[in-house]
Amino acid sequence: MALSMERVDPDRLSGFGPDFDDHRAVYRVTDRTCALTAFIAIHDITLGPALGGCRMWTYEDETAAITDVLRLSRGMTYKNALAGLHYGGGKAVIVGDPRTGKSPDLFHAFGRAVERLKGNYITAEDVGIGPDDMAEIGRATAYARGTAATGLGDPSPYTALGVFHGILATVHHRFGATDLTGLTASVKGLGHVGMRVAAKLHMAGAKLIVSDIDRASIDKAVREFGAKATDPDEAHSADADIFVPCALGGGLNAATIPQIKARAIAGAANNQLAEPEDAIRLMDRGILYAPDYAINAGGVIAIALGKPGRRTAQITDKVEAVGATLAAIFERAGLEGQSTAQVADRLAAERLAAARARSAA
Ligand code: NAD
Repeated sequence: MALSMERVDPDRLSGFGPDFDDHRAVYRVTDRTCALTAFIAIHDITLGPALGGCRMWTYEDETAAITDVLRLSRGMTYKNALAGLHYGGGKAVIVGDPRTGKSPDLFHAFGRAVERLKGNYITAEDVGIGPDDMAEIGRATAYARGTAATGLGDPSPYTALGVFHGILATVHHRFGATDLTGLTASVKGLGHVGMRVAAKLHMAGAKLIVSDIDRASIDKAVREFGAKATDPDEAHSADADIFVPCALGGGLNAATIPQIKARAIAGAANNQLAEPEDAIRLMDRGILYAPDYAINAGGVIAIALGKPGRRTAQITDKVEAVGATLAAIFERAGLEGQSTAQVADRLAAERLAAARARSAA
């Protein structure tokens, strides 16, 4: 078999500084016959098998790919814990260009690697990987989700629904507003989630500023939502009330935070903060930040709870409850003088600690 799956040496992983958070295991997966290089990270399985999507991206090198998979998998542990799901945290990245590098053989090889983990890691869609790709992966493993055959299909509409309710909670807390009429939102990234969030914001009466690296997506948002286009590098500093990051992570950092004009940030992107100190930088500037893994949990909630063909009120209610979770985080952060990211981390850590205590008893 050409498929090779090796554990990345923990000594090498400790070189990744705080991004390596005692992950249970990280695997380097290769298959020369189809040019597959992928990494699968299992961060924590206290609450159940590690559940988290697979991203396909043109990483500069393996260090960048490992950094991403470490951070994303840790985020999934916290996301699943905070959402009250019985799943741990894991994630996968495939190194490659999602526009040109996909093939059935590549996805089958990746699926075989997932299968070898015997359900300790369950995969689904993320950036660069859509439901058709996941269906292809699912031909080689029983542990692929986010398809119509395994549940409710593409999780993006549920992520977008949760983000929309998260935005409502954020503007309520920041501006005391009960609706979005007249507010301006700068949406960066108009993909599976961002375009849907933009549509919902438009329907709710918000004015839109949009940006993407894909011209066709911008044109669609301008045409359909009357949005104003801006350069992606200026999305965060646009003249808006709320910044809605829906592209990739790391956009909130020491350089960008001082330039932000919006008074609130609430979007779908994973790992928005480049480093933990950025949460304090935002708080010091009086910018209300909706922690990424709290606001973007709708998709994983649908994957965890959905059964084929059954979109139930129970799932929709749980996705919409993202708004209530955020409202509680905002309130606690205000009372305790802590950043919203610190409070979210603590709530998730408390749930993990309680589960560990239960299993030790
Ligand atoms: P996607 O690949 O469909 O969309 C990403 C969009 O961002 C694309 O339109 C792309 O052109 C654009 N983009 C990439 N780099 C950009 C840049 N520098 N500036 C502006 N735009 C840029 O991905 P998605 O599924 O919509 O996910 C978006 C974000 O939300 C990701 O960070 C993802 O991890 C996160 N997320 C997604 C889901 C989900 O259900 N899809 C769930 C939770 C979190």
